[in-house]
Amino acid sequence: MDFRDSPEEAGFRARLRAWLEERAGTFPASGDEYWERQPEWHRELYAAGFFGLCWPRGYGGHELPPVYDVVLDEELARAGAPPRPSLGYLVQGLGRHGSEELRRRFLPGMINGTERWCQGFSEPGAGSDLASLTTTATLEGDDYVVRGHKIWTSYSDVADWCLLLARTDPDAPRHRGISAFVISMRQPGIEQRPLRMINGVTREFGQVLFDEARVPADQLVGSPGEGWALAMTVVGHEREPSTLGFVARYGKLVRELHSRVRHQVPEELAWAAVQTEMLRLHVRRRLAEQLDGVVHGPDGSLDKLLMTWVEQSVGHAALAVAGTGDTELFNAYLYSRAQSVMGGTSQIQKNIIASRILELGA
Ligand SMILES: Cc1cc2nc3c(=O)[nH]c(=O)nc-3n(C[C@H](O)[C@H](O)[C@H](O)COP(=O)(O)OP(=O)(O)OC[C@H]3O[C@@H](n4cnc5c(N)ncnc54)[C@H](O)[C@@H]3O)c2cc1C
Repeated sequence: MDFRDSPEEAGFRARLRAWLEERAGTFPASGDEYWERQPEWHRELYAAGFFGLCWPRGYGGHELPPVYDVVLDEELARAGAPPRPSLGYLVQGLGRHGSEELRRRFLPGMINGTERWCQGFSEPGAGSDLASLTTTATLEGDDYVVRGHKIWTSYSDVADWCLLLARTDPDAPRHRGISAFVISMRQPGIEQRPLRMINGVTREFGQVLFDEARVPADQLVGSPGEGWALAMTVVGHEREPSTLGFVARYGKLVRELHSRVRHQVPEELAWAAVQTEMLRLHVRRRLAEQLDGVVHGPDGSLDKLLMTWVEQSVGHAALAVAGTGDTELFNAYLYSRAQSVMGGTSQIQKNIIASRILELGA
């Protein structure tokens, strides 16, 4: 396969690069300031024609092949610009399980950034074991009434809408009693409690308490009890190769670290360079498979695990090169610790690989 840009891809890359050069330094790429201005960044990227590249035209996307998202990720990393807002997993969840009416109502605003979204799955007692979630949604008249507590909800404080999992049938077997909803975050029955991350960021995620929050019954996604299937679609896409677009960022960081040490390369940095190159080639293979129409199932767990190893090896390299003195590099190390937790922990990915790919213990 030829991985060089086609004339169309090269034209897209040149337009994007010129656009990014005009905006150099106008958007912070990390810290609380990044999270505050992320909605604005999303809308600017979309308005300029550089976001929603691979999603259907009918909902505001450009319906381009997946390689365009890779070009986007590469150019954003090259320019030191903020990353592309990650919401593909929500687009897939709603796109696959929502009715056409729900898709038409909600996907365009999600894609163009005029409506902000969060994912309300995890709870204090239900993370890896998501099926044990205890938030309930009870039908009262035309609305479901929601009671419960979600945690680690990314972007919850800026979100207009939440893709929420709640138990609608307490008597059904636990996976079957869960339903999914599109619930408004702008209502009195919702309390937000911020969380402070180890790198000092306070705007990335929060806790959300639902105390008799209401959601119209027609904002149930799919059928009652379809929540688990939706959750599997969402987490499957959270782990899919497109999120591996971060490889461009890892490569850039490795090159920056290398320029600091020149010939005295610590082992951690050499290892990070090898790992990053391995991931880059792996992403290309996945991309080639995607272009051939291969649908990935549990393989996403392999990709997520590889990405975690690479991000953490780059984090270790940053620590080896700069110690704790350089805030940005130290934060890169600290944030890499979250990678083995978010979107399903590394232990859970290993369980999935063992049981569903290697079929061990069957
Ligand atoms: C940066 C970040 C963003 C996040 N964003 C969101 C979000 O937007 N929405 C959302 O709903 N959630 C979000 N999460 C939450 C994330 O999905 C959960 O943290 C994750 O699923 C793990 O759940 P837990 O924290 O409850 O840990 P637990 O499930 O309690 O796990 C604790 C430890 O036990 C291990 N463990 C648990 N069960 C097993 C098992 N069966 N076999 C082997 N080991 C096991 C785990 O691997 C882990 O090491 C986010 C998390 C992070 C870090």
